[in-house]
Amino acid sequence: MNIGIVGLGLIGGSMGLDLKALGHQVLGVSRRESTCKRAIELGVVDRAFVDFSLLSAADLVVVCTPIGAIAPTVQQLIPHLSSDAILTDVGSVKGAIIEQVSLLWPNFVGGHPMAGKAESGIEVAEFGLFANRPYVITPTKNTPPTAVLMVEEMARSLNANVFRCDPEEHDRAVAWISHLPAMASASLVAACMRETNWDVLKLAQNLASSGFRDTSRVGGGNPELGLMMAKYNRGELLRSLLSYRDCLDEFIGRIENEDWDGLFEDLQDTNHARPLFVKD
Ligand code: NAP
Repeated sequence: MNIGIVGLGLIGGSMGLDLKALGHQVLGVSRRESTCKRAIELGVVDRAFVDFSLLSAADLVVVCTPIGAIAPTVQQLIPHLSSDAILTDVGSVKGAIIEQVSLLWPNFVGGHPMAGKAESGIEVAEFGLFANRPYVITPTKNTPPTAVLMVEEMARSLNANVFRCDPEEHDRAVAWISHLPAMASASLVAACMRETNWDVLKLAQNLASSGFRDTSRVGGGNPELGLMMAKYNRGELLRSLLSYRDCLDEFIGRIENEDWDGLFEDLQDTNHARPLFVKD
């Protein structure tokens, strides 16, 4: 199959590495010529160019630009696509993107591979990044079933675990487990930086170890991605953040009131709940 990838960064580059290894002809388009050149050097794509005309032969195109650039990218891409080409994206927010893009190209299927790392760009693209990770497909009642099946098959070929849900359910769920953690983790780092005693701040920075590494990782990641999550999933993110603030207030209340039994119960509950979300 001829597969086009637009936006050769961490996600687009990693997808290219996997799809090329599976024997597909991978055609890449990126904003900067230097990125296209590097993508060829790293073996991420067979061919790469800054012009969308390269994608006229593509059967499937995966748009991997930052969230805010997905709809404008599709608009520029459309004149170059063959009429039966299937389009998908990898944006971390689905509702706002699907609303705009499905009006532009009916053969569009929203997607979100839930794998990543703190760094961004083509240099950190990684073979096998999506293996054993969730890959969410978010069709609407108007999405052509054949297009859904093709995107699901592509996701499965990356050894990802495929889930299907509504765009709205997706945005609400990822607010809890991805967008809220990014903001909570960023707030944690920001709060630590408010330490006014310089010696104590330096000492804390020297003592920070695995616990701080785990809890600060997503807050110290790509700022552009965090901003896009907040901008494009504002309603659901605010809902989860307000609920998080209530929980923080409850914990503060327990500690202020020296309600150690209550605090112990809360911590026991979270100790039991965590494995429902992740297994170590
Ligand atoms: P990235 O490493 O920064 O790559 C983004 C790519 O898009 C770059 O190749 C860049 O091209 C291009 N680009 C940047 N701004 C652009 C613009 N205004 N117009 C057109 N192209 C532009 O980002 P990423 O982490 O791969 O994220 C890409 C998408 O994946 C986002 O929609 C994000 O929501 C989604 N996603 C990210 C993660 C994650 O953890 N990182 C996980 C799942 C999904 P040049 O280098 O040529 O400038």
